[in-house]
Parts: sequence; C-alpha cells; structure tokens
Amino acid sequence: MAPRDGVRCWICGRTVEEVQQLIGNPAAEVTDVDRSMAKVVDARTRFAKTVSDWWEGVPEQFKNMDFNFVMGNPTQFKSIRFLDDVQQARKSHVEAVWEVVGRGREGKDFTIGDMKVDANDERRRQAVMREVEDFERRTGRALDGGKQADEASRPKGFDGLKLGEGLRYLRDVGAVYYTLQQRLLEVDKEDERKKMPTIGIGMAKVKSFPKPVPLCTVCEGLIKGL
Ligand SMILES: [Zn+2]
Repeated sequence: MAPRDGVRCWICGRTVEEVQQLIGNPAAEVTDVDRSMAKVVDARTRFAKTVSDWWEGVPEQFKNMDFNFVMGNPTQFKSIRFLDDVQQARKSHVEAVWEVVGRGREGKDFTIGDMKVDANDERRRQAVMREVEDFERRTGRALDGGKQADEASRPKGFDGLKLGEGLRYLRDVGAVYYTLQQRLLEVDKEDERKKMPTIGIGMAKVKSFPKPVPLCTVCEGLIKGL
C-alpha cells in the first residue's frame, strides 16, 4: 500500500522530496553490465550478418551437398573461399555452446564469452538451460554435440544437414551463443537492481505499534536493526 501524496515519515517527519534531498537520488547510471550487454547485442548482430553473407555466397550447386562432407574436404572446395572462416565460427560459437550444455548438464562449472558460471550457481545455470532446452525443442536437435543419453533419437551437431541448412544452423546456434550471455547478464542486472537503494516513503509495520505507518527509507533502515 502506497501512502498518499505529501505524506510525512512517521519517525523523522520528512516528505519524500526532503528525504531525497537528504541522501541524494541516484540517477540510473550505465553500469558494466549494461556495457557488456550492448557489446553482446552488437556481436550477435554482426555474427548473424556474417553468416547470412556466407549463405548467400555459396554457389547454388553446393548448397545441397552434405555440410560435414564439405567442411571435411576444404581443399576440394577451394572455390568457397570462406570455408576456413566457417570452420572457425563453428569452433568459436557452436562447439562453445556444446561445451556449455555438456558441462551444464553434468552440473559442472562452465564459461561462455567473458562469463563464468560456478557449478553451484543454480540460478544462472537454470537461466542458461531453459534457453537450451527451448532451442532443442524447437529444432529437434541435441545441442550438446552428442553427449546426451538420447543422442540416438536426436540428430546431433550438423549431422544430416546440407551445406545451406548447416549455415542456417550455424547462424541459429550462434544466436543461442549470444542469447545465453544475454540471459546471464540479465541475472547480473537483477542483482544490481536489488543492491540499488530505492528512496521513498512506504507503509511499514513498526514493532509494538498496531497499524502500519508511513516510514522513509532512512528510518526504515534504522529501525530494522532494533
Ligand atoms: Zn524518516
């Protein structure tokens, strides 16, 4: 229940404006978490663009060839000049996600981008795994490179994909690589918000007083220790 306008704190007698003047109203400032989020979003956009360019650059006659076969015979397909880059992106993005999923499922710590998630950090692990399972449900493909128990029933990695499809899959798993980092940064942001003092006057119970009374943030903090 919010107090009426112009209400004064029951203890110090200040209005909201007076309390804010007293301790300063922290303006919403850009934090490291915000900066990291902007970086991830930017990298995500660039990656999607790069892979789309590759997809468009593959000669039509190659698009229906097996992805793994083409990638495994780079000297044979020299005419596709960016195969090395595709191989690199596969390592840096897709295999990185496989590693995260494999370790996450085993309850181990894992690292993605600049972020490390401890083995016992259930909140962050869940944030990542929810996203992973959603992707697996949507695509019907195991996202752990084949470590899962039911790997026989679910195609893994790029198995069975044609070159064109494989590039799309690379783009999609690349998006997951960044989404997972975004989810982790959202958890960081949540923690950050909890630490920020919110200044105001709210109705609160005071020990040995029957009805809730309006209390300012400062006084509420003071009497909490009593
Ligand atoms: Zn007060």
